[in-house]
Amino acid sequence: MTGRGVDPARDPDRPVAPPGRPFVAGVDVGGTKVAVLLVTADGTTLARSVQPMTSRSAPDGIEPIVAAIRAALAAAGAAGGTLVAIGVGVPGRVESGGIVRLAANLGWRDVPLAARLTQEFGVPCAVGNDVRSAAAGLLDHELAGGARNLAYVAVGTGIGAGLVLDGRLHLGPRGMAGEIGHVIVDPDGVACTCGQRGCLETVASGPAVARRAAEALAAGRASSLAAVEPLSAKAVYEAAAEGDALACSIVDEVGRSLARAIASLVLTCDLELVLLGGGVAGAGNVFLDPILAHLAELRAGSRMVAEMIPAGTVRSLPSVFDAVAWGGVALARALATTAFGPAARSARPVSL
Ligand SMILES: [Zn+2]
Repeated sequence: MTGRGVDPARDPDRPVAPPGRPFVAGVDVGGTKVAVLLVTADGTTLARSVQPMTSRSAPDGIEPIVAAIRAALAAAGAAGGTLVAIGVGVPGRVESGGIVRLAANLGWRDVPLAARLTQEFGVPCAVGNDVRSAAAGLLDHELAGGARNLAYVAVGTGIGAGLVLDGRLHLGPRGMAGEIGHVIVDPDGVACTCGQRGCLETVASGPAVARRAAEALAAGRASSLAAVEPLSAKAVYEAAAEGDALACSIVDEVGRSLARAIASLVLTCDLELVLLGGGVAGAGNVFLDPILAHLAELRAGSRMVAEMIPAGTVRSLPSVFDAVAWGGVALARALATTAFGPAARSARPVSL
């Protein structure tokens, strides 16, 4: 039989390996760590990787991000599949084209992160602000329970919100919608990094909680916190959980400020749901309960508030939920609609 020059790769009798399952990478770039999730079209998590963010002093320290994505790809290797897009949430201002204009916690200015990661991995990459990306990730996630108008409020080193209105992430013309951390709540309060005085961040962020405790101790208040070094928001919330009176009064005041700010946000935007996350929110019920108690007070005094902010409107995200990495997954999915198909927006429960 004469050879017909059959390309073995096209031989119909040759078993064909199934094409790799397409998946995207969602990346959370934080001040101290990078978290990566690899997620398929149906929302299945193939791998998760967390690496320290070690190159903070470098002007363009993307190596930890590359290493974290590579580690996740290696972990998912046994499952097979093809990386089709990357989405990244970054704590800072991001411009179109995935250029990080300013990320103070990372020491970054004008870093073309999307282009660098595309160069590294050969797939399209989208970059967004971390908090706004997280809000985008919650839309359509089962944790949002179908809500089309919701806010993700991150309480950590700073305070910020991502807004989803009528089923769409709302960024605003400057990409700054949701800067509730810089709403003034105490005009006679302390100076804020933004140049104003008495912003919500100066009374309810992690550093503000620690500062309040330090000031009270310096003024002679008795507390178990006197023996704690260094004083942190985490220590204050732990002391409150143990019943320390000073710590309890601080977390109650913080809860009152956050409740008012969250109520303002709900009333302004007619939100169905507010989900809380971030480092300070990770304290759990000792963080959430004072907020809920003050919301209940507002509700008891106003029929309008009771109607617009019914019980259950404000919740904390599970502490194991990588909100920003899931936000990165949402950004990547938007790029990967060809590989994933148009019906690829639903997300399954998190399995970490
Ligand atoms: Zn401010």
